[in-house]
Amino acid sequence: AANDCLPMPWLGIDIGGSLVKVVYFEPTDSTDEREAEANENIKQFVKGRAAYCNTGSRDTHLQMNNVTVNKRQGTLHFIRFPTSEMKVFLQLVKTKEMASIYSTVCATGGGAFKFEEDFEKEVLLKIHKFDELDSLIRGIQFVERNFPRECYYFSHPVDDKKCKKAPFDFSRPYPFLVVNIGSGVSILAVYSENEYKRVTGTSLGGGTFLGLCCLLTGCETYEEAIALAEQGDSTNVDKLVKDIYGGDYHKFNLRGNTVASSFGNMNCKQKRESTSREDLAKATLVTITNNIASIARMAALNESIQRVVFVGNFLRNNTISMKLLAYAMEFWSRGALKALFLEHEGYFGAVGCLQELMG
Ligand code: ADP
Repeated sequence: AANDCLPMPWLGIDIGGSLVKVVYFEPTDSTDEREAEANENIKQFVKGRAAYCNTGSRDTHLQMNNVTVNKRQGTLHFIRFPTSEMKVFLQLVKTKEMASIYSTVCATGGGAFKFEEDFEKEVLLKIHKFDELDSLIRGIQFVERNFPRECYYFSHPVDDKKCKKAPFDFSRPYPFLVVNIGSGVSILAVYSENEYKRVTGTSLGGGTFLGLCCLLTGCETYEEAIALAEQGDSTNVDKLVKDIYGGDYHKFNLRGNTVASSFGNMNCKQKRESTSREDLAKATLVTITNNIASIARMAALNESIQRVVFVGNFLRNNTISMKLLAYAMEFWSRGALKALFLEHEGYFGAVGCLQELMG
């Protein structure tokens, strides 16, 4: 009977526009036999390849050991797969008969609404829906407190030779700006533990990068798009200040190698013909990243906030964008703004919605 079900599913799911992020809390202090057995089942499922629908992965490097959630000790596991595989995932959960053990899952993101009926009617699991931005902030606060070296920055972002990743002490975080770069972008100002607002956003986000890159280069995946960009040179594609001025634009302190017009050389047939797929991928990445940097900078100025935390899966495997963001924050604010990054980049919504239920 439903009443016999264990109330805690220990699963947080963030169903986004591109990716589903799953966080599973594995209790390591079970004294209840039935719970231990149920968790053994779910653990097999989560740790087995099947759970990832063959197109997803478990991020073992992000695993959090010995964390306390709702007075219980355990391990947090991190898994992601494309949202397009959601129906396959639901079928898997159904065949595993998780509903006979657990009664609810915590979910957030747009898909918590879109797939609610599928969960409840097909899989017989009740969904506890949480707001994605509330969850994001809660998740950041929880992980920052529980994972050593979660927060980092790039030192000397303006000097490419010296620029390198370094840990940042984020134990006294407020106020800070969060720039969540998923399929689209949301910018939040966080003033204290319980006080935040959504300042602005842009539809030109990670989904735009990937979509345009597929159109322009014929690539098929995010990994491929990033690999192309790493080999490319965007200065063939973009029109730079020096292409227009012949050098720097001194009066307003604009360096010759500053982009004046993104893709601005591509109206010229000759330039188009000498441009590679790699160059186009790089230019797309740089265009989207710099646009986000510029909006983030204005938001920070408006809110009088100095620390800007960039998160979201657009930053996964993407050092080019992180270094560009670090450069843009430092250079254009004359050192007033600092770009910060977090190791669990895309998982905060999923962690946060689990937290919300458990307190
Ligand atoms: P959402 O919640 O909108 O799905 P995410 O924070 O998960 O947002 O970020 C999605 C973005 O992350 C994509 O638009 C893409 O730029 C990037 N990305 C990183 N890894 C992948 C991947 N394996 N598949 C698709 N997109 C990926």
